[in-house]
Amino acid sequence: MKMQSPPALLSRRSFLGQVAAGAALTLLPRLARAQGGPPPARKLGVALVGLGVYSAYHLGPALRSTAHCRLTAVVTGNRAKGEQWAADYGFPRANIYSYETMAQMVANPDIDVVYVVTPNGVHAQHCIAAAKAGKHVICEKPMANSVADCDAIIAACKAAGVRLMVGYRLHYEPHHVEFARLAREKVFGPFMRMEGANGFRMGSKANPSNTWRLNKKMAGGGPLMDMGVYVIQAACMAKAEAAPVAITAEFDPVTRPETFSEVEESVRWTMEFSDGAIAKCHATYAEGVSRFKAEAAGGWARLEQPAFSYDEPLLTTSLGPVNLPKVNHQAVQMDGMALEILENRPSVAPGEMGRRDIAIVEAIYASVASSGRAEVKS
Ligand code: NDP
Repeated sequence: MKMQSPPALLSRRSFLGQVAAGAALTLLPRLARAQGGPPPARKLGVALVGLGVYSAYHLGPALRSTAHCRLTAVVTGNRAKGEQWAADYGFPRANIYSYETMAQMVANPDIDVVYVVTPNGVHAQHCIAAAKAGKHVICEKPMANSVADCDAIIAACKAAGVRLMVGYRLHYEPHHVEFARLAREKVFGPFMRMEGANGFRMGSKANPSNTWRLNKKMAGGGPLMDMGVYVIQAACMAKAEAAPVAITAEFDPVTRPETFSEVEESVRWTMEFSDGAIAKCHATYAEGVSRFKAEAAGGWARLEQPAFSYDEPLLTTSLGPVNLPKVNHQAVQMDGMALEILENRPSVAPGEMGRRDIAIVEAIYASVASSGRAEVKS
């Protein structure tokens, strides 16, 4: 339902009616199926690559509740862990692979999709191996440590004729979907001023999940790679997926040099869009923060408490709060991606989007290095 009247003339009632209609439209395909619409022929089999925190506590459990895909295999460097997963999730031990045996997945009809959930620096290696085995690929965010690696992943998937998506779960989360609609349909007019931040206080280097995140080669950078991509995503979403044209960025002073010897502790950057819109952004490992606000001539929209974590975000606009269902982020993402494959629809989070964001990341680091404005290369 598109708004015809100028945004400034929107009444609270007509706006909330539109929000409800927009949200209902978004959820309609899922609801139609839940109410007896034609179901896809089968569930897709998913292999998780890398059984760390995100796989063990989020993706694996979510795959127990998905309607259109299920966990059928794993790739791990730890055989005993793989055997525990096979027992817990009820798939054959023959479906446990190592990083060295990924090519053998080509002969396994249980696997349709390979989901790469390893450290950023090895995403390209594992995505390319999955594509060569003829499987659709989901790559966790950030897609890779360089645009060159993103290009290599995209080329491998094209050559193999398989789909490539990035694990951007928020593209399937109802509050963010609604935020994207407000932006796309310019309900308040085009968003022109944006501000966002995302971060947490990084703990000890001794935690294995922190060790690689503090290693430049494996993480590609600091909080910009881990948390900042969400702010980049929100800013591009607010501009209907346009990429910015230029960046100005700087690191904050380091408060814990013993921990942040290789990667930044905090970074601030400004994104300039071709229509003059500006997004001021912050990513940090120094404090917990998670918010995004976008302003237009006719109103504003804000995501917070938190905007980007696995909880239910609070979406508020200049006309009031927007109430939408609470979902399991990973389950709606996995079902959404499975349906895109099964119904042969374009993905809302394709590899090209992951590449766009890494081009922005490269411009941010280029701006810091030159202490000047850096163009975003397309
Ligand atoms: P962890 O460190 O907890 O797990 C990574 C796993 O990758 C390890 O347990 C290991 O699994 C495997 N691995 C393969 N090669 C290496 C290596 N060289 N060094 C370390 N581990 C290796 O990380 P997370 O699960 O937190 O993150 C994994 C990916 O998921 C990252 O890209 C991260 O950005 C992304 N992520 C996305 C989130 C989201 O909300 N979308 C949230 C959290 C993370 P094994 O022992 O089985 O071989």
